[in-house]
Amino acid sequence: METTRENVDIIAFGAHPDDVEIGAGGLLAKEAALGYRVGIADLTRGEMGTRGTPDVRLEEARKAAEILGAIWRINLEMPDGNITADHENVMKVARVIRTYRPKVIIAPYWDDRHPDHVNTSRLVTEAHFKAGLRKLEPELEAYRPNIILYYFLNRMEGFSFIVDISENYPRKQEAVNAHYSQFGDAGLKPLAVLGVKAPLQFIESRDRFQGSQIGAAYGEAFLVRTPVPVEDPLEVWGR
Ligand SMILES: [Zn+2]
Repeated sequence: METTRENVDIIAFGAHPDDVEIGAGGLLAKEAALGYRVGIADLTRGEMGTRGTPDVRLEEARKAAEILGAIWRINLEMPDGNITADHENVMKVARVIRTYRPKVIIAPYWDDRHPDHVNTSRLVTEAHFKAGLRKLEPELEAYRPNIILYYFLNRMEGFSFIVDISENYPRKQEAVNAHYSQFGDAGLKPLAVLGVKAPLQFIESRDRFQGSQIGAAYGEAFLVRTPVPVEDPLEVWGR
């Protein structure tokens, strides 16, 4: 992975080091394969997780990012289990947005059983707005991405669109599996990841379900707060 400060097309934000893989790993792999520049920013090191030390999880996250084809992955080192959408944290995320100037950012859906996911959603949403305010910390040039795509972790409702990730699915699975401390022997011991005993099967069946909604083998659903522009409905539905 490069560690340059070059602009990226898309940044995926997650609360914990495996969140973006679970909710949007297929999309990230797809965009990277299409030649877009993908960055990943984790808000915490996942140190409150029952399994895996912060160092182990950092290494797993680095590997997973490489598998997905991201050009960098950074960690904002906020406290796991206690992410707050206060001004300091909002500005931390806003500075990342201003530095790398992505066209699209990705954040967890705002309703979830894990408070960190809820707060990350709020934090990134606020940072998206504040990054565009010229008089706020003017030493870093203001910039606001075009849109936030919300991905789903524990709860899903109200899809805006579903992306066909069938071809990229092996990469997604490999990236999720790179978080071995979280999923390694998930088949042997019950885990609390996503609140289910078999998280990998849960992720796969959900991705299959979302794919089935658009006639694809695997899909990832996203929610946006503005209408989705369609150039030509016949191009999408006329075939
Ligand atoms: Zn999480």
